Amino acid sequence: MKGIGLQRRISELEKAIGLLVREAAREVLGSDKWLRESFELHVSCTVEPGERWKVQFPESLADQVREILQEVTARSNALKQGHIYCYRCESTTCEHSLPSSPTEVFGGYSPTGIPKWLDFHQLLLAKGHPQVADLFESDSSNLLALYMDGHSLREEQLEVFGRMSLSYEILGQVVFGLIKVGSERIALTAQAVQYKGPRGKPRVDLNLLGGLGTDGSPWDLLQETRKGRLPMILSHARRSLQALGSKMGKERNSHREDAERVLRAMAKKLERWGRQARRRTTHAEIRSEERRPTCKALEDVGCAGPGRILWDELRRTVVVLGMCERVHVFSLEGRHITSFFLDGDSVEKRLRKGRWRPMEDGMMRQFQLAVERMAAATCKVEEAQK
Ligand SMILES: [Zn+2]
Repeated sequence: MKGIGLQRRISELEKAIGLLVREAAREVLGSDKWLRESFELHVSCTVEPGERWKVQFPESLADQVREILQEVTARSNALKQGHIYCYRCESTTCEHSLPSSPTEVFGGYSPTGIPKWLDFHQLLLAKGHPQVADLFESDSSNLLALYMDGHSLREEQLEVFGRMSLSYEILGQVVFGLIKVGSERIALTAQAVQYKGPRGKPRVDLNLLGGLGTDGSPWDLLQETRKGRLPMILSHARRSLQALGSKMGKERNSHREDAERVLRAMAKKLERWGRQARRRTTHAEIRSEERRPTCKALEDVGCAGPGRILWDELRRTVVVLGMCERVHVFSLEGRHITSFFLDGDSVEKRLRKGRWRPMEDGMMRQFQLAVERMAAATCKVEEAQK
């Protein structure tokens, strides 16, 4: 064999490995754009010297590379609850992955694959929802829901910006609202998403988008604000969708129809829940609303000793443990976000898991000052309104 020098062989091999892995990524993930971060590639082989030196692979090289890619993508978490995938930034954590206001819902992808967030009112108006006028009444508690199919959400999107991606596909979604959370009214997007799980297995899940602009998942928000059957309706649909993923076959259209069936049924249940909740506005509910006024929250901040003012790592908010199992959530700038009741065990669990941690002194003082300033302004307004 004529030698061409070790260095040249190595550079040839390096180039060949790069091309091989890229080709495999296209095959396994539908695109080579999904992987942005470096990863290790360990393949095992045996070299047999002889007249022609042979390389043997215990498991075919293609299979080894495929398996590694599948594990890397499963780790890269193409589905991040509460966030949507942005094809432009190839990320689920960029600024486009979240709505910028509590009433915004997902309205589809732009031609370059950027998520478009639209105001719930505007979207329903554009789609001609018959009851949209209800939303404009300030005291309306009616809940409206709208099903949108996956195709319509990406019809503007160009192929080069992920339209044909097989590793993350929105099967359909339901936008719904408005739901009263604390002093805000929010709209949410519940999206059936198909993505690749560990070992490239197809998975389907319900991704819930929206909330109060804080970092946590809307699932927690609905649990914490005691929305009765609402989280149950969503969880039920989520389980049905997850079950679709586990029995998914090769036919690509069948599960899209199944997902549509699940989502449409969910939308109906949500609207029914809204109508019932409206009728249920009883004295008990009015009382519970009275038990969580802003001034009470401010009072609790004033009384809270060290260890009762906490930092929520997940949502990047301040949590104040008040009297009688009251819990108040504030922004660091002192804006009251919501209040709810939480028993001691649940508080303990969050502390143990490190989701909530005691605030550092400097940060706590900054927060208390901000709250005092807000308190002076807010309570004056509330007194005047009485
Ligand atoms: Zn982005």
